[in-house]
Amino acid sequence: MIGFTYSHTHCYLLRSNDREKLLAFDAGWPCSLLEYARGVKAAGYRFDCIRWAIISHFHLDHAGLVRDFQDAGIQCLLFENQGDGIDGMERLIARSHKDYRPIFRDRFLPLRTDESRAFLSSIGIAGEVIRTPGHSDDSVSLVTDAHEALIGDLYPLPQVMDDDEASLGSWAAIRALGARHIFPSHAEPFELA
Ligand SMILES: [Zn+2]
Repeated sequence: MIGFTYSHTHCYLLRSNDREKLLAFDAGWPCSLLEYARGVKAAGYRFDCIRWAIISHFHLDHAGLVRDFQDAGIQCLLFENQGDGIDGMERLIARSHKDYRPIFRDRFLPLRTDESRAFLSSIGIAGEVIRTPGHSDDSVSLVTDAHEALIGDLYPLPQVMDDDEASLGSWAAIRALGARHIFPSHAEPFELA
């Protein structure tokens, strides 16, 4: 898995069938494009190689650069459980970032999670995106056929409370897809027993 870390957040990049074209998983903090691009470079790639982005959920540390991505021509995907959280996130960001510019709602590529395997396959990535509520209703995870799972902020399994049915259901779905190598956004990767 290609990735880099800044401001306590792991950002991931997946190679498509064209080495010059990457899919980003998550889009960094608001007003941090230079830091993000520096991280991409440190991982051995160029920011302008990123062509698509999947947002794990619309919180400011994961979707803060969506507008910058859009301005750079990156196709940002929006799944069927996503979108409702954008207003709240942007109100929060605007309080602390005067230079923040809002996301273009009409520039997303709307996609259903059950279409994600076909979409990813069309760009040479074997895997699928599933809805993984728990941390937030708009959370999704990307599970590859190489048994890797990018889970955003889904709580690591040992931290999930017994009555947190949403998170437990999400982990069951991740496990059912055969995921073993887990990549959270704010903790070190771990192996699923
Ligand atoms: Zn987060």
